[in-house]
Amino acid sequence: MLKKILLRTIAILAILITLASIFVPAYMHEKRCGTHISPPYRASAEAQALYNRLDFPADLHCDALLWDGNLLKRHDYGHVDIPRMLEAHIGLQVFSMVNKVPAGLNFKSNTDDSDQLIKLFMVEHPLKPRTWFSPAGRVLEQSRTLHRFARKSEGKFRLILSREDLADYLQDRANGQELTAGMLSIEGAQALEGKIENLQRFYDAGVRMIGLTHFFDNRLGGSAHGAERGGLTDFGREVVQAMEEKHIIVDLAHASPALVSDVLDIATRPVVVSHAGVKGTCDNQRNLSDEQLLRIAENGGLVGIAMFEVADCGKDYTATAKAIRYAVDKMGLEHVALGSDFDGAISCHTDVTGFPLLVEALLAEGFSESEIQAIMGGNVRDFLLRAL
Ligand SMILES: [Zn+2]
Repeated sequence: MLKKILLRTIAILAILITLASIFVPAYMHEKRCGTHISPPYRASAEAQALYNRLDFPADLHCDALLWDGNLLKRHDYGHVDIPRMLEAHIGLQVFSMVNKVPAGLNFKSNTDDSDQLIKLFMVEHPLKPRTWFSPAGRVLEQSRTLHRFARKSEGKFRLILSREDLADYLQDRANGQELTAGMLSIEGAQALEGKIENLQRFYDAGVRMIGLTHFFDNRLGGSAHGAERGGLTDFGREVVQAMEEKHIIVDLAHASPALVSDVLDIATRPVVVSHAGVKGTCDNQRNLSDEQLLRIAENGGLVGIAMFEVADCGKDYTATAKAIRYAVDKMGLEHVALGSDFDGAISCHTDVTGFPLLVEALLAEGFSESEIQAIMGGNVRDFLLRAL
C-alpha cells in the first residue's frame, strides 16, 4: 500500500515537473519579451521592396536560447525563431548565451553574489543539474540545443563555425536555397568560471564570439553596470589574447568604459559591440560615447545598434534609425550594424519579421539603398568573412 502511494506520488511529481518545464519558460518568455508594435507589420511599399532585395539581413545579438523554446516552431510571442528568420530571409542571427543574471538587476550597479537563473534552469532542465548552478554548464547546454535545432531543421538552418562555412552558405543562398543561419556567442565571460581551459571547451561547442562582461564585474574586468567598473585584469588579458589566437570575436557590449579602453589598447583584431546605443542620441550608462565610437572605428570594429527603449530612447524604429545615423556619421558606414537584443527579457520595437519597418525609418533618415544594404547586414557579412 505504502509502495503504491509512493509510486503514485513520484508519478504525479514527474508529470508536474515535466509540465512546468514546458509551460513555465514559455510563459516567462511571452511575458518578458513583448513588442511595442504588434505583428503583422506593414511597411511602405518602397521599404518592403527594398527589404526584399537585401541579400543578407543580419543581427549581432539575441538571447532566444535562454528560454528553452523550440526554435524550430513558429511562435506568436517573443522575437526570434527559425520559421520567422526564414520568413524575414535573415542571413545571420547571432545567438548569445546568457549564463548568470544577478537578482534585482538594474542598469546602475550590480554584484555577482546572487543568480536569478538558478530557478529558471532548474525548471527548464530538471534532469540536467549541471545547468542549475554553473554558468559553464548553461553555455554548454544552450550550445548543444542550437546544434540540435540545426540538425533537425532539414537543412534550413546552419550554424556558422568558420569563414569557409560562411562562404559556402553565402554561395548556397545566392543559388536560391531557402536557408538561414546562426552563430554562437556568450553573454559574459564569467561562464569561463575563471578557467582558461574552458575557452577551448566553448570553442569546441561552436562559440565564435564572447562578450567579456554582462551585468556585473567578473574576473576579466568591469561591467558598465558593475559595482567597481574597473578595467582589464591579468586574467582578462590572457583570455583576450587566447580568443584572438582562436579567432573568437571579442564583444565589448556591457563593458565598463575602462574595460573598453583597456581592450582597445591591446586588441590586434577588430572587436564588436554587439548590442548598444549611442550617448549622442540616448545618454545612459550602457551606451557608447563619441570617443568610444571613434576608437572602435579605428580598431576596424563593428557596433550593433540595439532596438529597445533603454538603448535608443524610443519605442519604434525612428529612434533606432537616429542612433544608426549618429553612429554612421561618427564612425563611417562600414562600422555600423544591427544588434537588436531580441528575446533579451525586454520589449523590442517588433519581432524579427518587423525589420522592413526599420528600412522605412532608415529611408526617412536619408540613407541610400546601398547604405541600407551595408547597415542591415552587409557589414556583418564582410566583417565575419575577415574575422572568423
Ligand atoms: Zn545584453
